Amino acid sequence: MLKGFFNVPKAVNEPVKGYAPNSPERADVQEAYTTMWNSQIDVPLHIGSEEIRTGNTRNITAPHDHQHVVGKYHLAEKHHIEKAIANALESRSAWANMAWEQRAAIFLKAAELIAGPYRARINAATMIGQSKNIHQAEIDASCELIDFLRYNVEFMTQIYGDQPKSDSTTWNRLEYRPLEGFVYAITPFNFTAIAANLPASAAMMGNVVVWKPSDSQVFSTKIILDVFKEAGVPDGVINVVFGDALMITDTVLASRDFAGVHFTGSTHVFKDIWAKIGANIHNYKTYPRIVGETGGKDFIIAHPSANVKQVVTGITRGAFEFQGQKCSAASRVYIPQSLWPAVKEQLITDVKSMKMGSPEDFGNFITAVIHEGSFDKLASYIDQAKKDADAEIIIGGNYDKSVGYFVEPTVIVTTNPKYTTMETELFGPVVTIYIYEDAKWEETLELVDTTSEYALTGAVFSQDRYAIETATVKLQNSAGNFYINDKPTGAVVGMQPFGGARASGTNDKAGSALNLLRWASPRTIKETFVTPEDYRYPFLG
Ligand code: NAD
Repeated sequence: MLKGFFNVPKAVNEPVKGYAPNSPERADVQEAYTTMWNSQIDVPLHIGSEEIRTGNTRNITAPHDHQHVVGKYHLAEKHHIEKAIANALESRSAWANMAWEQRAAIFLKAAELIAGPYRARINAATMIGQSKNIHQAEIDASCELIDFLRYNVEFMTQIYGDQPKSDSTTWNRLEYRPLEGFVYAITPFNFTAIAANLPASAAMMGNVVVWKPSDSQVFSTKIILDVFKEAGVPDGVINVVFGDALMITDTVLASRDFAGVHFTGSTHVFKDIWAKIGANIHNYKTYPRIVGETGGKDFIIAHPSANVKQVVTGITRGAFEFQGQKCSAASRVYIPQSLWPAVKEQLITDVKSMKMGSPEDFGNFITAVIHEGSFDKLASYIDQAKKDADAEIIIGGNYDKSVGYFVEPTVIVTTNPKYTTMETELFGPVVTIYIYEDAKWEETLELVDTTSEYALTGAVFSQDRYAIETATVKLQNSAGNFYINDKPTGAVVGMQPFGGARASGTNDKAGSALNLLRWASPRTIKETFVTPEDYRYPFLG
């Protein structure tokens, strides 16, 4: 062990590049996009030091051109999952005992690799495989991921530095041990940064990991794996498996050494995982940590004092960026009657100006939704809204999957505050608006609080401080991330720790020390310098 209390570089947020015409970053990412669009990648399982090609493969395609194949990935069988667990456990001792500054160096290096040589590739992979436009790819795959890695290193040192009191007779120490076993990371399609962060945050704290990425995020997973390898993550620390989610999860949860799950995805999947962990509880060596960030039905409520342009921009950016496929995306909106005519006019103008198509064309604000299942679900809700008497589609409502999974940005206005699209997470470019009577501000806040099972993000727009205060108090439990005069999306690591409660998750706040702490099991060490040698206390005399 080296001798010294080492400081880590002060974490700073990665600046977001602009990709304006003729900028060097635009040329770089366009070149990477073209090369990767015309390539064929082959993504194996990564277990220990082995890259395993099972031969049972699935194609990687682009959602905006679903017949275009850019590669394939290999699917695991049960014995591969068992092998991944065994490899993780074999690697545990060396990794858990490695000095923290060595682990820190690996992840700081990963951040710099993404900021520099891998930036164009990880952005291009996210554009192709997940259909993000360049701005969405940049703020996710580059900036947010870099921020996660840098800030988590800083948070790790803050946690290690958090020590109990001692006095001259005893020295009390807290050792932040990794969990005894392995961590299972299950990641969603919609953020490359989340995909990398869920395994990396647990690994940073000295844990070994089995990681199952989403089938719809394999292209950028490959770049993450290249970065982790070049940064020096040792073999066996993060083992990657693809395939049948149920089989993989059941195999993992059956292991006695399963020590925690780091999940992001939909609510029903997380609840099932929780129930299975409960059913298996007698088999585990330790109580598993259960960390899950799940769905949302995120709101915007405008007060009659709100600025119309700000409200409309909150809706357009909040609901439609990345086609509404953000857990934080605004999907139910409450507008006062007095503002509605102006809001409606501006909203129609703005949404009609949005161009939709491939992310390769930088003029497109909207691209495709992730897969056919999502497309069909959205189409069915739109069709139903066309039939329902209490709903009216005022913008959009068309969809077409002949080339890519394109759904127009769609605005539904409902007279029923409990209409199905006010309550159900659709995860697409569909927002529903309910118009309330100006005098019913407090009743409408009550409606916001009680309409959905979720509590992830929400926003209030108002120029009236009393109204802002009332909303902040009344909506205290309606959102884990609450925005005042801003859209409810776009949380930045180190600035707005992210996560929600109720059905939205365990609220362990990704991008904060609170999350990292879940991947440590503290040991208290008390050392007494002059140890008593007689059991008799003075009072016995
Ligand atoms: P998903 O639930 O379909 O998939 C997430 C992961 O779980 C994938 O790896 C998938 O293969 C796996 N999975 C699917 N079924 C499973 C099962 N039965 N058992 C075990 N694993 C299973 O979610 P998605 O479509 O990839 O992502 C969208 C969802 O994620 C939305 O609900 C969104 O709100 C949520 N999300 C939440 C946050 C947050 O921070 N709260 C962030 C991003 C996404």
